[in-house]
Amino acid sequence: MDLDKVIRKINSIDAKSVGLQFPEGLKMQATKIARKIEEETGAIVIISGDPCFGACDVSDWKMKGSVDLIVHYGHTPLPLKYEVPTLFIEAFSKIDIKKDLEKSLEYLKGYSRIGLVTTTQHLHLLNETRDFLEDNGKEVILGSSPSTRKGQVLGCNFSSIKDLEVDVILFIGSGNFHPLGIKLFSNAKVLALDPYNSEIRSMDEFADRILRIRFARITKARSAKKWGILVSSKEGQYRMMLAKEIKKTLEDAKMESYIILVDNVTPDALLPYMELDAFVVSACPRIAIDDSQMYKKPLLTPQELEIVLNKREWENYQLDEILFHERYQ
Ligand code: SF4
Repeated sequence: MDLDKVIRKINSIDAKSVGLQFPEGLKMQATKIARKIEEETGAIVIISGDPCFGACDVSDWKMKGSVDLIVHYGHTPLPLKYEVPTLFIEAFSKIDIKKDLEKSLEYLKGYSRIGLVTTTQHLHLLNETRDFLEDNGKEVILGSSPSTRKGQVLGCNFSSIKDLEVDVILFIGSGNFHPLGIKLFSNAKVLALDPYNSEIRSMDEFADRILRIRFARITKARSAKKWGILVSSKEGQYRMMLAKEIKKTLEDAKMESYIILVDNVTPDALLPYMELDAFVVSACPRIAIDDSQMYKKPLLTPQELEIVLNKREWENYQLDEILFHERYQ
C-alpha cells in the first residue's frame, strides 16, 4: 500500500488532515492505514465510507475544506480536475502469473498477433507477459490512450484497444467486468487470463448472453413513453450536456423525459420515479449493462436508446464510453 510514500507526501506538504479513499476490495485496510498515518504524521485522517469504483469518483468535492490531501487507493489518475491535491496509490497485486503464462500458450495456438491489456492492479505484469509471449514467438501489441496507461483499460474506456489490428486480445485480471467490456467494445476474439484461479477463458459465450439480455431490455423499452435520464454528480461521470441532448432527442420523438441528478445510481434512488417507463444512464456506462438485473424498469445506455428510436441498427451495437481526455475540451 506504499505507506512510506504516503507518509512522505503528508510530511512534505505539512498536511494537517488527510482523506483516505479505497475501492471496496481494499476497504478492510482502511483503519489500519489510518492509524499508522495518524501515529507517524500527527495528521487527522478522514476515511471515505462511500462506495468507490474508479478514479471517476474521487471524493474531492465532499472532502474539500476538510482535508489538505486525499490519498486515493487502487486506481490510476484520470485527466480530470480534482479540487483537492490527490495522491493516487495504485496498489499492485502481488500475484505470480508465471505458471498461467505457460498455460496460456495452449489457448494462444494459432494466434500470432496478440493485443495485451489489463487493469491498474496488474499493470506491472505487462512487461513480464510481453517478454514471455515474445520469447515464444508471438507478436505483442500494447495499445495507448490519452485517458489510461499503456495497455490499460477501464470499465468505461477502451481507447487503448481501439483500432488494434490483432488476432486475439489477451486480458490479464480477475472477473468478467473488464473482459466483457473489451469483447463488447472490440468484437474481437478475447481471452481472459485470471491469475487468481488460474483460469483462461474465452469471453464469447458470456458476451452473447449479455447481448441477449440487452436485446430484451431494448425491446421492452420500445413501448416506453416516459423516460428518466440519469446523471451522476461524480466528477468523472457527470455528463449533463449528453443528458440534455438525450432529453431533446426524446422530446423530438414526442416522449416525456426528466433529467434526474443523483450521486449513486441505485434501485432505491429510482424508487420515487416508478411512474417512468424506462431510464437512460449518462452516468457510469456499466450500470445499465452489468447491474440491469437489479432494476425493475429497463435501464439503457445512450447508444441503446438510439436503437429504440431507430437511429441505430442492432447490428451496430456499441458500448458507451467516457472519453475523459475530451471532458474539458
Ligand atoms: S465511470 Fe464506471 S467504469 Fe468508468 S471508471 Fe468510473 S466506475 Fe469505472
